Amino acid sequence: MRPNPGPTLLAGARSVDDGQVARVLVTERLAEVALDSLRDAGHEVGIHCYDHVLWQDFVARRDRAWTRRQMEKAAQAFQEALGEPAATLGAAGWQLNEHVPALEQDMGFTYASDVRGNAPFYPVMAGQASACMQLPTTLPTLDELIGRDGIDEHNAHGSVLAASSRTAPHGHVYTLHAELEGMKLLPVMRRLVEAWLADGYRFLTLGELHESLDAGTVPQKPVQWGTVEGRSGQLAVEAAI
Ligand SMILES: [Zn+2]
Repeated sequence: MRPNPGPTLLAGARSVDDGQVARVLVTERLAEVALDSLRDAGHEVGIHCYDHVLWQDFVARRDRAWTRRQMEKAAQAFQEALGEPAATLGAAGWQLNEHVPALEQDMGFTYASDVRGNAPFYPVMAGQASACMQLPTTLPTLDELIGRDGIDEHNAHGSVLAASSRTAPHGHVYTLHAELEGMKLLPVMRRLVEAWLADGYRFLTLGELHESLDAGTVPQKPVQWGTVEGRSGQLAVEAAI
């Protein structure tokens, strides 16, 4: 059955950065009341997409006008729900096309998290640079880990923790979905958060990560298509240059 279309949004966990780990918590299909309470509790809320199925399955092959319409619908829904414009966008399924970074700049987003990678960068696609900084997801998700290499729901948190110790110049960005990590995998998520805290990691929002960066030192890099172990299909990734 097709999921109920509507705006999906993301939220970041807010805390203090000790320079080790930056992280975003992504939630989807939240009611307005939940969005309000999330924001009022100090979490960051942004746009995921307007129609998850349409965006994830088709955006890579759609033109600028289609893409702009989808982004404008999401921005309008966000404005109506929260009473303020969204500062950030995290593309559904790490799917985009060459128009998305330029549209993010034109529509006034402060930063975005649409790709997989290792560190913040200014995206270039089809030769066009965008001033909307990308903060890539750097860590594997639980659904990418569980079911391979002996990883199951009992030890998956250890795999994410191990990946977190990999050097990332500005900390790590972690993605989760409320309907998975917030429900069936909630016990795993709880163990992961406890393990991060026990190891001295702290949480901050993407907005706080963005504010901590010296924009003049952030490089331009192409966005390209690539694969991520444990996830099917092609995703937008930071070019390895
Ligand atoms: Zn999603």
